[in-house]
Amino acid sequence: FFIALEGGDGAGKSTQVDALAEWIRGKGHEVVVTREPGATPVGKRLRSILLDVSSAGLSNRAEALLYAADRAEHVDTVVRPALERGAVVISDRYIDSSVAYQGAGRDLSPTEIARISRWATSGLVPNLTVLLDVSPETARERFTEAPDRLESEPAEFHQRVRAGFLTLAAADPGRYLVVDAGQDPGSVTTVVRHRLDRMLPL
Ligand code: C5P
Repeated sequence: FFIALEGGDGAGKSTQVDALAEWIRGKGHEVVVTREPGATPVGKRLRSILLDVSSAGLSNRAEALLYAADRAEHVDTVVRPALERGAVVISDRYIDSSVAYQGAGRDLSPTEIARISRWATSGLVPNLTVLLDVSPETARERFTEAPDRLESEPAEFHQRVRAGFLTLAAADPGRYLVVDAGQDPGSVTTVVRHRLDRMLPL
């Protein structure tokens, strides 16, 4: 069973990933918590290229391909093996981040970004994608560290990313759960648990 958490920077994804993992483990499942970019040794190197402010000016298509390379390595060496042995996998970001950031955010074609991701993952789609939706202004108030290359993008970029995520969710309500991430973290976890309770194998 494969769950992806998506949303803008500062939406609270990592807090929710940890809370959900603990809850699902409590039900007796093996849970693998992972993330993009940077879950594998090669992925960590790609992540540092992608997020370092010295990569400012990286070409949009090169950027999209580096995220796709990270994702291919992630799926081949972490996600698929875990799913095959019956684990529940929770990934902090997946394909929809690329469609929203490299597609809607950078103005590349979302359809082409989705196609590259499909190839990179051999078509592996989550059973549930949770979109933690929050305004970029609220999210920014939550930043505690120096902003990375993406977090340094202007507000309009983050507005396009948010709209990109919401468009994806609206197109596929069966796979998506959209949660208002402006509310307190405990309430967000409750909403997600509710949905998962109806989906998770016992
Ligand atoms: O969620 P996390 O902070 O680990 O993501 C790292 C950075 O990479 C974030 O600033 C996010 O905006 C960016 N990102 C991106 N495109 C993706 C995935 C992440 O621009 N496909």
